[in-house]
Amino acid sequence: MKTAVFPGSFDPFTIGHESIVKRALPLFDQIIIAIGVNADKTGFFSLEKRIQWIQDLYKKESKIKVDSYQGLTIDYCKKNNSHFILRGLRTSADFEFERAIAQMNREMNPDIETVFLVSEPKHCAINSSIIRDIIRNGGDASLFIPFKI
Ligand code: ADP
Repeated sequence: MKTAVFPGSFDPFTIGHESIVKRALPLFDQIIIAIGVNADKTGFFSLEKRIQWIQDLYKKESKIKVDSYQGLTIDYCKKNNSHFILRGLRTSADFEFERAIAQMNREMNPDIETVFLVSEPKHCAINSSIIRDIIRNGGDASLFIPFKI
């Protein structure tokens, strides 16, 4: 079974993330949307909420699993028999950041390939951290989120 891990903070999951998942679905038998948990940094939204929203969104999609993990993404991939890390690229800044991580991950484990999908132009500006700012300041971010929060 060809499994990809789509790792991220997803704080919150956006229509940009949703589009990457949709476009990656035909490429893999299974996609695990895996929320990386940092021991010293809690998210803006609780881990439970982030998981629940994504699970509800994909409850009819049997190829998608939602999970959380601590530690290195490559270790999580190995544990789940996944040879692919899925990431989205919005900008050249994303590229530079992602390139270094992907190259270092590959040095550490050449059995795992990072697969990048370039975001749709209409999703390039959509960014979880700006969405958090909108919400923090009482704005309406519903245009950018694929479920009601
Ligand atoms: P991280 O903290 O790991 O960057 P994010 O939740 O911000 O986690 O993003 C997870 C992945 O989704 C990253 O590969 C990121 O580049 C990608 N991504 C984020 N927003 C978008 C978007 N609007 N369109 C396409 N890809 C996106």
